[in-house]
Amino acid sequence: MSSTPAESTGQTVFLNGEFMPIESARVPVLDRGFIFGDGVYEVVPVYGGRAFRWPQHFARLERSLAKIRLANPRSSQQWTELVAELVRLHPWRDQFVYLQVTRGVAKRDHAFPKGATPTVFAMSSEFVALAPQLREHGVPVVTRPDERWLHCDIKSISLLGNVLARQEAADADAFECVMFRDGFLTEGSSSNIWVVRDGTVFCPPLDRLVLEGIRVGLIGELCAASGTPLEVRRILREEVFAADELMLSSATREVVPITRIDGQAVGSGAPGPVYARLYAAYQAAKAA
Ligand code: PMP
Repeated sequence: MSSTPAESTGQTVFLNGEFMPIESARVPVLDRGFIFGDGVYEVVPVYGGRAFRWPQHFARLERSLAKIRLANPRSSQQWTELVAELVRLHPWRDQFVYLQVTRGVAKRDHAFPKGATPTVFAMSSEFVALAPQLREHGVPVVTRPDERWLHCDIKSISLLGNVLARQEAADADAFECVMFRDGFLTEGSSSNIWVVRDGTVFCPPLDRLVLEGIRVGLIGELCAASGTPLEVRRILREEVFAADELMLSSATREVVPITRIDGQAVGSGAPGPVYARLYAAYQAAKAA
């Protein structure tokens, strides 16, 4: 999917206290988000007007801000109202809301500026469900060494490592790039990765090498509710290639079966029963 920069989307966005058409939103070139990638973001799915798992997304935003030592410029209630208003301004039943905070506009200097006002930006986009044939057949992924920094737990807008990884997938006509550090699974360029073997679901520990996906907590709950064993531990590359099933999860993709990895079939080569169960449970959780 690609879009031209000039395309009118009809989106109303929020920038520093005001709502405006996306085409009118402007940020000064000295914004530290533009100059240094000095900021954090969130992506929140909205189903039928309701922000799904909003408390968890808000808590992660607060954690990301704290980790980059940026005081949250808005209260919890202000953020909640902002999300609700953005959703109300758009006609789509399902949306995803993007929130971003940068350290603001200041003379270019690496150290934190004194007295800068954080830039707050938010927009909502239509939530376009994954094509049914991808769910039916599963998606291909490629693997690469994880060459990102050591604070992948921060939902930073500095995403160059993730961008380069995803482009490797795009170059190979694959859906995602699955990364390994020192021979162990970390995550996808914009997703968490799940391994299934002999009926047990495995996911890597939520340390500084991976983003704590909001779906990680959710899928953990869905596993517990369905009696599916879940083990959180370091996962060897060989274990990923020997999996019965592989899945990825993210706000915009929900949970997706991976059926090829570096050109090799995963398990039977078709989406498996654990995926089917978790996907159904995910849909039920959305509707609850
Ligand atoms: N890891 C990375 C690097 C991501 O960009 C994302 C998507 N935000 C995830 C994992 C999944 O997180 P979530 O379930 O919160 O979308």
